[in-house]
Amino acid sequence: MENLETEKFDYVVIGAGCAGLASAQYAARGGLSVLVLDVAGAGGQVLQISELENYPGVFPAVDGATYMMTMQKQAEAFGAKVIQAQVLSIDKTGGSFMIKTKKAAYEATCLCLATGAIHRNLEVPGEKEFSGRGVSYCATCDGPFFRNKKIVVVGGGDSACSEAIYLSTLSSDVSIIHRRNKFRAQQAVIDKMLAAGVKPVYDSVVKEIKGGAKVESVIVENVKTGEQTELTTDAVFIFTGMLPQTDLVDMLPKDPAGYILTDENMETSVPGLFAAGDVRSKPFRQVVTAVSDGAIAAHIASERIRNA
Ligand SMILES: Cc1cc2nc3c(=O)[nH]c(=O)nc-3n(C[C@H](O)[C@H](O)[C@H](O)COP(=O)(O)OP(=O)(O)OC[C@H]3O[C@@H](n4cnc5c(N)ncnc54)[C@H](O)[C@@H]3O)c2cc1C
Repeated sequence: MENLETEKFDYVVIGAGCAGLASAQYAARGGLSVLVLDVAGAGGQVLQISELENYPGVFPAVDGATYMMTMQKQAEAFGAKVIQAQVLSIDKTGGSFMIKTKKAAYEATCLCLATGAIHRNLEVPGEKEFSGRGVSYCATCDGPFFRNKKIVVVGGGDSACSEAIYLSTLSSDVSIIHRRNKFRAQQAVIDKMLAAGVKPVYDSVVKEIKGGAKVESVIVENVKTGEQTELTTDAVFIFTGMLPQTDLVDMLPKDPAGYILTDENMETSVPGLFAAGDVRSKPFRQVVTAVSDGAIAAHIASERIRNA
C-alpha cells in the first residue's frame, strides 16, 4: 500500500451490522468522532431477516433492510461516518490502534470489533456444486424463486425455524430436517413454524444434495437407524450455525467455539479494544443483544476517552 495520510478518529468500528451501527450511534451522540468500516456496506445479517418481529418497540414487524437503513441514517445523523471497505489489519502502537484497508489507514483511540458471523457450510456432496442453483443460505434473498415449489430447510435453531416460517408463506411444501429430536429455537418460533404447516424431519441429517442442472433431491439419513431416504425438492436452505469473523484478532482469547471473550463492558483482553455482537462469546445472539453490546462498548469507550 502506498504511504497514505492517516485519518484520526476517537472511535473506529469494524462492521456495520446492527452491533456496529448501534455502537457508532451511541459514540457519535456522545460526542466522539466515529468511523464505521464495512466490507459489504451497512446491514450485516439483518438484511437476511424477512420480518423482524421480535425487536422490542418495533411493531408491527419491519423487514431487515428497512430496519438497517434507518439505523445507518440514525448513526450518520449523529455524525458517524460510514465507509465501505474491508479492514485488512489492526495493530496497537503506543496508546492507539492503526487500522488498514486496501486504500487507507486510520488511527483510533478505541476500537470496536463488530465483525459478526457468517453461515456454516453443511460440507456434503452437492452443496458447492448446487450453490445458487437451489442451494441457498438466505431465505429472504432466494425464497421467492421457489414460490409453490418443494423446499427443504436444514437446521434447528432460531434462524432455521424463522426462515422456514417465511418460506412457508411462499410454498405449502416446506420440510425442515434437524439432527435432533427437538428444535433448539425459541418455543414461540417453533410453535409458529409448526402451525404454519412446516413438516419436521427429526433425528436426520442431509448426506448429499443431488440434481442435474439444478437441485432435484436430497439424501436424508436417520441418525438413529442409519436408514437413508431420498426426498425430492427444488431447494435446500441451509441454516446450520455460524462462524465468528475473528481473522483480524488471532491473538485474542476466545471460547472453545471461537467467539471472542470480553468482560461485561465488552472490552477484550487488550485495553481499548472492544467486541460487540455475534462475534463475541455470549449465550444469545439476536439483534437486541447485538445492539446492547454495541451501546455498552460505546459508553465505556466514551468514558475512557473523556477521562484520559
Ligand atoms: C437468517 C437469519 C435470520 C435471523 N433472524 C433474526 C430475528 O428474527 N431476530 C433477531 O433478533 N435476530 C435474528 N437473527 C440474528 C441477528 O441477525 C444477528 O444476531 C445480528 O444481526 C448480529 O449482528 P452483528 O452486528 O453482531 O453482526 P453481523 O450482522 O454479522 O454484521 C457484521 C458486519 O461486519 C462486516 N465485516 C466482517 N469482517 C469485516 C472486515 N474485515 N472489514 C470490514 N467489515 C467486516 C460484515 O460485512 C457485516 O456487515 C437472524 C440471523 C440470520 C442469519
